Amino acid sequence: MKFITIDKKDWTKGIDKSRETYQLFGPVKDENGCQIKPLDADVQPDMSYTDSVLSAKSVLFPQTEKILTTSLNESAEDHHIMKRADADYTPRAVVGIRPYDAKAIQLVKMNFDTEDYRDPYWCDAYEATTFVGLAINKPGPFDFSTSTGTGPFSEEGLDILLADMDDKFLAKVLTPKGEAFAAACGFDAAADEKESQVLLDVLRKEAESGIGSSVETDKLQGKTILDLHEAPFWDDVAFSCINCGTCTYVCPTCWCFDIQDEAKLKESTRFRNWDTCMSSLFTRHATGHNPRGEKTQRVRQRFMHKLKYFLDKYGSGIMCVGCGRCVKSCPVNIDIRQVCATMNSYEKQD
Ligand code: SF4
Ligand code: SF4
Repeated sequence: MKFITIDKKDWTKGIDKSRETYQLFGPVKDENGCQIKPLDADVQPDMSYTDSVLSAKSVLFPQTEKILTTSLNESAEDHHIMKRADADYTPRAVVGIRPYDAKAIQLVKMNFDTEDYRDPYWCDAYEATTFVGLAINKPGPFDFSTSTGTGPFSEEGLDILLADMDDKFLAKVLTPKGEAFAAACGFDAAADEKESQVLLDVLRKEAESGIGSSVETDKLQGKTILDLHEAPFWDDVAFSCINCGTCTYVCPTCWCFDIQDEAKLKESTRFRNWDTCMSSLFTRHATGHNPRGEKTQRVRQRFMHKLKYFLDKYGSGIMCVGCGRCVKSCPVNIDIRQVCATMNSYEKQD
């Protein structure tokens, strides 16, 4: 592990140099706010952004992804055989990812990269990606990341952590992937390790002290699933929800998807698309039966999955990194912090 100082005057040149090796992604402002997008050759990552509407999850898990192709053309040697679609897994780097979003990718990894099943699309993209984080000096009002096991200066899931120090970045290089990226940029001005860590700790404490809200999760593990599932508060929680799905699309830890086949003449393609558990179609069976046909069932599923099923399955943590996007974006102000407090304090009445 080492520290590097990057003078901001050298930043653009270094980033441009890295494009010889890496396809870059990063924060870009557009008419809808800030997004994490592929960076065209003439576009620099906006390192002054506060937060992005969507996280970096689409870098590994695109909203729409071609996964398989088939040809019915019998003159083709491999006709009627489903083949993995071509995709580019050459090195890529996400520059400016927020620490809580890097942690979210580690949570998603627990679903896509397991002993029993390895999702080849997600895992190959993950292997190809270097995560260059940008610490959050001034957390926004919706940030509650410190109570979810991450924080504004968290290093988990990052290859490099950058701290903005006005005229320079202090870079903590955390992995060999991070070293390779710094070398590709030509960033090599070593900084004193001890002094740099002290400085980083000061900035981290200052940032963490600016976080004004939290989730209480200490009692969730001790509760039985059935008690929480049958608790009387779900109708109240779900009352105003319009099932728009925004909370799941903006969430960096939500991974629901749907599979669709499209055919054109003799060629067919299988896509996977983001989907949302807040839609009644998501769980509707081919028979017409729907195990989550009611709004309350879907709202309950979302919170139970994030705050209880995940915890029970893995033994610790929740499936939320406290980015606050769902709180900020929900059109009817449903707030996971309040729902979590309700679940955490619930006692079944006999
Ligand atoms: S964003 Fe709000 S209204 Fe929309 S589905 Fe989520 S909880 Fe419901
Ligand atoms: S549940 Fe909400 S606050 Fe938690 S990670 Fe998802 S979008 Fe962020």
